[in-house]
Amino acid sequence: MALHALAYCERLFYLEEVEETRVADQRVHAGRTLHDAEVDKNREWQSLELSSEEWGFRGKVDFARYRDGRLVAVEHKKGRSKGDDAWESDKLQVTAYAVLLSEHFDKPVPEGRIRYHASNRTVRVSVDDAALDRLRRSVIRARELSLSLERPPVTDNENLCTKCSLAPVCLPEESRFAAVIDMTDDAASLLKPRRLFPKDDARRVLHVVDRDAQVRRAGLQLVVRNSTGEEKKYPGMDVGAIILHGSAQITSQAIHFAAGNDIAVHWISGGGWYVGGVAPPAGVQRRLRQYQALQDDKLRLRLSRRLAEAKIENQLRFIVRQSRTRNARDKVEVFLDAIRNELQQISRCKDAAALRGCEGIAARSYFSALAQLLDPSEKHMVFSGRSRRPPRDGFNAALSFGYGLLYREVMAAIIAVGLDSTFGFFHAPRTAAHPLALDLMELFRTTLWDMPLIASVNRRQWTGEHLSISKKQVWLSDEGKRLAISLFEQRKQETWKHPVLGYSLSYTRAIELEARLLEKEWSGEEGLFARMRLRG
Ligand code: SF4
Repeated sequence: MALHALAYCERLFYLEEVEETRVADQRVHAGRTLHDAEVDKNREWQSLELSSEEWGFRGKVDFARYRDGRLVAVEHKKGRSKGDDAWESDKLQVTAYAVLLSEHFDKPVPEGRIRYHASNRTVRVSVDDAALDRLRRSVIRARELSLSLERPPVTDNENLCTKCSLAPVCLPEESRFAAVIDMTDDAASLLKPRRLFPKDDARRVLHVVDRDAQVRRAGLQLVVRNSTGEEKKYPGMDVGAIILHGSAQITSQAIHFAAGNDIAVHWISGGGWYVGGVAPPAGVQRRLRQYQALQDDKLRLRLSRRLAEAKIENQLRFIVRQSRTRNARDKVEVFLDAIRNELQQISRCKDAAALRGCEGIAARSYFSALAQLLDPSEKHMVFSGRSRRPPRDGFNAALSFGYGLLYREVMAAIIAVGLDSTFGFFHAPRTAAHPLALDLMELFRTTLWDMPLIASVNRRQWTGEHLSISKKQVWLSDEGKRLAISLFEQRKQETWKHPVLGYSLSYTRAIELEARLLEKEWSGEEGLFARMRLRG
């Protein structure tokens, strides 16, 4: 029971303990390293996993030692003390450890000590009646929260959030901002959130494209061996995801290592379709809230409308941006009018089927306009209208392959947020693809893949070597996949400014942010999902 978290902030407790949200950030990792080092260099200290039937909680007592013949619970903290005193959350934690030790050794433990390394100070905490009473009340509150489906609101003390390891998933500033989103723009702009959501994910995505390649584990490293026997090593801590394309292999040990170290593993078929991935378990309450919310027709329609608007507006802005010359604009004007017309219809749609109709008509005009914007002398990446299964030309092969990469990226974000990808709100569950992933993808198709693809075609980066043509089907060759992956990965790292929240972040992070904002739509903090737009 994360009593330390409970004393810090009830929402933190709920996210960690009830929704099982974990973020292995630098501060948490530094804390672990500190503890491990202390255990190694001084055998007097012990690490004990204990539970108390009487109190109904368990915990890991990091250190215990005898002082003056008495057993004392000791907790090490990397940070600073609260002046001469200990922080309330630390006091509660060490009291709980004292209780666990006392019950385990059947001895009184009248004192706990907290060693604050940053201020080089040890604070003594008396385990008296008042401390035990605080502990008892906290345990009762923790049980109440564990049974609740409602996530507690963000704390009023904003200072706590700046030091909170779960700020990137809690999004406290965005939640406060969501509460004023209906204010006038001027008033809301004064309250733009401070960034607590990371700009970027520094961990790399390992794409394994070589069909005879194998990924294995060697200690704390991941080793990729290609078909010629050449090996490349990557520190496990630096890898955020492993993507296996086609028949590339991975050992059980490597999957095991990945599962234990928050590294996603995904399989993509040779044709670029997403096959599946390894997902960590997610909190039940979060899923239950999703199931309940997405059975509400009004909410589904509201979300679908906002999603369709965002997608069509992004398509419109991209075509406008790409057709700045008179000649180009003349060629696409008719399609732009058609897209604008569908955009206007959206507010009149009464159900998801009507919205999907508008979105489909707009998409047809959008792809017709895209075909006009490709360099007419381009021979390899000809685009003769959208064709999916199978792609009938090079451009369609690249489009589909890139959308497969995007689907994987969106799935990873959905998994990270703890949602169920099979339960969406806009797409009907007709294919093997998961509806919620298809829903979220709509926000990013144009910005994350169509734009860099068109730019690469017009830069003449694609040649015949990048394609594999058989009868009426066209696929990307291994070379073509490598080029698409490198374009996609580059694009993911580019930063973009959120028009409403007002801060910049990489596209990778933008996907995760939208997944988190979506989850807030049914968690009492609605209003920010699908507000992202391409700059006009
Ligand atoms: S970010 Fe703030 S509100 Fe959210 S869990 Fe942490 S302390 Fe609580």
